[in-house]
Amino acid sequence: MIVILESQIRKDSKEYRNIIAHLEHLPGIRLNVHEVHGTQQILTEIYLVGDTHSLPKEEIQALPGVERVVRVSQPYRVLGRHAVNDNRSTAFEYNGVTFSQDHLHVFAGLCAVDTPSHVEMMMQALQEHGQVCTRMGAYKPRTNPYSFQGHGRNCLNYVFELAGKYGIKVIAMEITHDSHLLEIRQALEQTGHPTGVMVQIGTRNTQNFELLKSVGRQNEFPVLLKRGFGITLEESLNAAEYLASEGNHKVVFGLRGMKTHLGDPHRNFVDFSHVPVVKRLTRMPVCIDPSHSVGSRDRAPDGLLDLQHVTAQAVIAGANMILVDFHPVPEKALVDGPQALLLSELPTFLEDIHIARRAYEQRVALAAAKLSCSPNF
Ligand code: PEP
Ligand code: MN
Repeated sequence: MIVILESQIRKDSKEYRNIIAHLEHLPGIRLNVHEVHGTQQILTEIYLVGDTHSLPKEEIQALPGVERVVRVSQPYRVLGRHAVNDNRSTAFEYNGVTFSQDHLHVFAGLCAVDTPSHVEMMMQALQEHGQVCTRMGAYKPRTNPYSFQGHGRNCLNYVFELAGKYGIKVIAMEITHDSHLLEIRQALEQTGHPTGVMVQIGTRNTQNFELLKSVGRQNEFPVLLKRGFGITLEESLNAAEYLASEGNHKVVFGLRGMKTHLGDPHRNFVDFSHVPVVKRLTRMPVCIDPSHSVGSRDRAPDGLLDLQHVTAQAVIAGANMILVDFHPVPEKALVDGPQALLLSELPTFLEDIHIARRAYEQRVALAAAKLSCSPNF
């Protein structure tokens, strides 16, 4: 059960103390208090953990300072959508950029940072096309121990400085160990915080529970959690809940394709039809990664790359973030060159997304008009 307090209730107020005192007296119930920092206000949510079935919802709802009480109907207590009236916000703000189930951001960038000049060419192109987000891989989890593992700590300062130079506000950057959080924090401090970082947890670490807990315990960086490539959707959503249960609610859920071993035409079986499913089950914005799903620059007979097709399919279904590999000279890329788009393809890629997004907005408007005259449509 979740007790949502009125937005003006502060922790040092009389109402807050009374509510806590009342709830603490409920037999066999443990309290877990979360502060949710939204774009406009701070909301306090109190999670009642234990056997809450017989608790008097109306009595708790009547306490001064309580806005609403929501019964939890499924396992994702913090990130899930629970009742028909669970219209709690899906939004969070980070470094001036708002993420929600209604926004759309493109994170085009390098799968792996190789040279300062490639980072600079990438960021300059992004700025020229009005982009304020990117992806930059410093710590690369590789299948083969002899493959390039990423420049790690050594590239962070120049990546952050160049981001500042070209107005990049958020960099999605994978970490594979909790010590990387400290390295990123130190590099941001050394360079004077010219940009922000969204910490990415890759598909190989989706169920690395200790990493999830460490990343969940910090609130400074939002998190992009990729779906595990060989586990159920429910298991991956529970992994996201690990982050939230430790206190970090700024979580974006990433679809990146599944391993099926069926000789797919793509590197992974594209799972973007799950975009609306994740939005229905949880309040997380949903990211898609066409590059690691498709894994090639194959082109359909209509002239569009498979990468463009699957991106548009996700955007027309309401995706909120696109993480995509680009490289100024893909033949020289140290990781995943064959799936990288060229800088000259950036404007077309963005325009294509724009077309799909407009179509999505029209579809939502059509559904809303239908629903307002016939709610069971
Ligand atoms: C990546 O985004 O660079 C990456 C390694 O992705 P994934 O974890 O989805 O394989
Ligand atoms: Mn990659």
